[in-house]
Order: sequence, then C-alpha cells, then structure tokens
Amino acid sequence: MQPPIVLHRAPWLLSMAGPVIADGAVVLQDDTIITVGCFHEVKVQFPEAKIVDHPGCVLMPGLINAHIHLELSHLAHLAKDIPGHDFTGWLTTMLAEREKLGVVGPAVEEAMRATLQDQFADGVIAVADIGNTSLNLALIGTFPGLLFPFVEYLGLTRASLVPALKKLGRQDDQVACTAHAPYSTHPELIQALKRRADAFGFLFPIHVAEPAAESDLLCKGRGELARFLRERGFYQDVFQRPGIDFGGSVQYLHSLGVLNEKTICVHGVHVSAEEIGLLRTNRAKVCLCPGSNRFLQVGKAPVAEYLDQGILPALGTDSAASNQELSIWREMRIIAEDHPEIDPYDILRMATVGGAGALGIEGRYGSLTRGRKGHFIAVSGIPEVEKEQEVCEVLVRKGGRRQIQWVRG
Ligand SMILES: [Zn+2]
Repeated sequence: MQPPIVLHRAPWLLSMAGPVIADGAVVLQDDTIITVGCFHEVKVQFPEAKIVDHPGCVLMPGLINAHIHLELSHLAHLAKDIPGHDFTGWLTTMLAEREKLGVVGPAVEEAMRATLQDQFADGVIAVADIGNTSLNLALIGTFPGLLFPFVEYLGLTRASLVPALKKLGRQDDQVACTAHAPYSTHPELIQALKRRADAFGFLFPIHVAEPAAESDLLCKGRGELARFLRERGFYQDVFQRPGIDFGGSVQYLHSLGVLNEKTICVHGVHVSAEEIGLLRTNRAKVCLCPGSNRFLQVGKAPVAEYLDQGILPALGTDSAASNQELSIWREMRIIAEDHPEIDPYDILRMATVGGAGALGIEGRYGSLTRGRKGHFIAVSGIPEVEKEQEVCEVLVRKGGRRQIQWVRG
C-alpha cells in the first residue's frame, strides 16, 4: 500500500526555487516532497490528499548554519561585553578563558548540547561544526537534522608539523579533519589536511581573510597577527616564498592548491575582486559570518561582489565567544543592515540554498522542490504581509525562533 499523501497549505509558500506563491501548498508522500505550487492547482492533482492548514504562516526550507564552534558555547560571556578590542586581543582573551574554564568537561558538553538544540528551535536543519577535540562527534545522533562535525588542526611552526601529521595519520577514516586558518596553520599541514579530505570525500572548511591582518602576515610577514604569533613563539616565517607575491589569503590558498568545490572559505571579508574570481573558477564555496565580523570589528564582507560574480555565499554564526546571538535569522538581519542594496530574497537564498550548496546537501535541503526531504519550517507571526513582494523582507526583518514550527513528513 502507498503511504498517504499529505498536503500542507499556508497563505505563503517560499520554495527558494522560484517566486513567492500566495495560498501555497507542499505535498508530501512519506518523508519526501512530491510537488509544490498554488493550493487550488495542487489540490486538483491530489484530490485524495489529507490537508494540513498552517494559518498565518510562510512555509519555507529549514535554514543552514554552515559554520559554528559548539565547543566554545560555554564562553558566551565573552561576547556579552561591548566590543572594543582588536582581533588578537579577543584571541588572547578567548584562549586564556578557555584554558581557565576547560577545553573539555561536563560544562563544555552541556553548553554544546544546549546550543545545538537551540539551532533546531531556531529553524536550522543542518549545521557544520568545527571543534578542536572530538566532542562534536558524540552529538550527531542528538540533532534532528544533519550535523557535520569537523576536527580542526592548527600549528604554524615546523616543530609542530611532524606531530600534527602523525596525529592526522592516526585519525579514524570516518572523522572529517580540517585546517584552522592560513595565519595559524603550516602550509604543508593545510595541504596534507586537504589531500586527506579529498581522498575521503569530506568538505574542507577553513577560516580565510577574517581579519585584515591576515594578508599583512601572509604577504609581508608583519602586522598585528605577526606580533601576536611572535610573542607566543608560534611564528615561523613560512609565508615568504621567493617569486610569489600573494595578493591575499585566497591567492595564498590557491597557490597551495587547496581550493576546489569542497573547500568552504569561511568569513571571506578581505578578498579582492580578483580573488572572488579565483574562488569562482575553482568552484570553492564561501560562508559569511556577519554577526561575528561585527562583534570583532574585522570589517564587512563584499556581499554584492560575491553575488555579482555568481557566488551565493552560505551563512554561519561562528561561535558564542564572538557573536552575541547564534541565530541565522540575526545573521540575515545584519546582512540587510550592512548591505541595504541586497535583495531580501537573495539574503534568504544565502541562508538556505547557499548553505545547502556549501554542505553538498542541495538534493535534500535548501529548497522545497520535488524529491527534497519533507522536513521544513512554518514561520508564523507575520500577519501584516499583504503582497508577495513583502514576504521576504518581513522574514528577514522579523523572522526568529519564537515563530518556528517544524513540519515533517
Ligand atoms: Zn570560526
């Protein structure tokens, strides 16, 4: 016997694969979407369908948080202060506080679990999490959506390279490993991590061009990050290669041969138009973290330039230690505030289609279309919407956790 057909109806449908539909419907069979469209047209096709009404709601795909550090959730107090310190000042405080309060332990694990649950309550269906330990691996079964855990490596000196490569060689084949950032990770370690990720088919998220000081370090061997690393004995002059003039962090990673369709460049604040072209030709993905960028005052990513060059970025919250709220809704609002020229529909696409593309799950999530998973959100509480054009703007401006109800086939 065929599983029953269920038709979910709402005043607004935002499939992210086309325009907003008034009086829309999503038809599910079992846990899969079989069609979407105007209620009256769809109802004719499936007269036997059970109808579930969602009055006053917008039906839309679950959001994607393409970058978080659950392991830093117990350090949320660091982002409660009014920002005012520089990037390395924040790094210093964060590392000291983490040392003091513990890298692992029950309080860390409890904060991780609570933060992950909050993500789902906020309407997030998929999360890419970066950890320095393997604590996030234990959380996979606790999340109703998809959790992509990564174990992050770092270490810039040659002395740290050999033990890091040995540790990587011992790592379980099922565990996805990645590099922290160009400023903190030896280029040979970045390349070894990327080779391993490609060999096992893993994604490769890496922080890129977050503070302006990163390109000062890579290109000139000086600046705020160079001082920070030297003072701690972490610095080794591994960036100055004769004859190679890096224009920035993306060019540096390109020169290492680590940009491809599975590389996710996280932050991407200080990138030139030429570097955006490099990302596009290498089909590399981009994940923006505007809330963290605002808190750490590292600048604003060139969102319009990414879109103009055909790159739809994903969005990520980054960690609770550098962001006052871990909500993709707020990340969308910050993009709208910082870049009023960007169409709210494009901002919603970043949080859904862009995130799904970055995580390689666009066949299951990110849009409401035939064959995708019948697991999405109904957003309530936006009664003032009267026209299709207003739906995206109101969602970006007012969407949030209190309005989310999950729909599951
Ligand atoms: Zn991060």
